[in-house]
Amino acid sequence: MVVAMMPVLRQKAAAFRRGGFLLFAALFSVALVSSVYADEPIPVKPSGEERKEVLRDFVLANVEFTLLHEIGHALIHQFPIPLFGREEDAADQIATTFMILRHNTDIDPTAMNKLLMVSVEWLSEWEDAEAAHGSSAHAFWDSHSLAIQRFYNVNCLLFGANPDELSFLLDTEMLPAERGFDCEQAYSQAFEANLWLLSSFARSESSLVPYNGIVVEYEATRNPRHEMVRRWLIESGMVQEIASRATELFAWPQPVRLFFDNCPGSAEAYYNRNVYEIVVCYELLDVFLEKSEIFLSRSAVAVCANAGLRRLYGESFGCGTRPED
Ligand SMILES: [Zn+2]
Repeated sequence: MVVAMMPVLRQKAAAFRRGGFLLFAALFSVALVSSVYADEPIPVKPSGEERKEVLRDFVLANVEFTLLHEIGHALIHQFPIPLFGREEDAADQIATTFMILRHNTDIDPTAMNKLLMVSVEWLSEWEDAEAAHGSSAHAFWDSHSLAIQRFYNVNCLLFGANPDELSFLLDTEMLPAERGFDCEQAYSQAFEANLWLLSSFARSESSLVPYNGIVVEYEATRNPRHEMVRRWLIESGMVQEIASRATELFAWPQPVRLFFDNCPGSAEAYYNRNVYEIVVCYELLDVFLEKSEIFLSRSAVAVCANAGLRRLYGESFGCGTRPED
């Protein structure tokens, strides 16, 4: 696999010159999966604006997925949506499809970068748990799919929506061929389900349902790292945009409060059916920040280890120069 991955990286370096930033995260996600680079003894000092941008993009992408997953639970709770299968999987499908389509029927070109950052976060969760506790780390009885399955599920729908652009994912650790062959069909089903959801429960001017929506509130933070992420969220406008779009699209029977809170010792997000409230803990955002730092560090190792990428991005990542440069 290591040998097979190198040509992929070289092809992607060429794609950067042609296509610019679009596949930035795609490349780094593939590189991150290939653990060979982690052993390269290369000094890595990514710094400055590029570093901050990658960290922020990674955190925002994962917060967006989390919010849409919880909004998925709220939709399933408040509307008569039939489910064959686990609600947690349905909420993941809703979140992934909403990110691909941005609640609409057109594919969002930025979704590839964002969803690969989401799937890599799932992979990182799985690997960290394995490293710390072995197979006993995983709750096979849980209502959620395992983190490694969520990694493949996101990759599959994303590939199914963009089979040409993401063809390089197929038959790699990101998406084994046995799974990949079904993904266009899986995306087609998710697309139809999304259309049904939007048309079945859409807000209409003549609706007798009161104009309920999603209201965003932030508790004051108690930790500088949490405050940094809170500022990213507010400055990006992403949370408010998601809340506004979900408000406009659906005739919510009950208003939903989306609340960012301090939850010492608990890094989670959940929808509370009793009070129609989505809670996102700052501690979960801190986990995303930690993962983003790991992602950046490993990405930098991948960049510095590859001559083509080093020429393109070496300066930004502090790779230094080599004789062959
Ligand atoms: Zn859930």
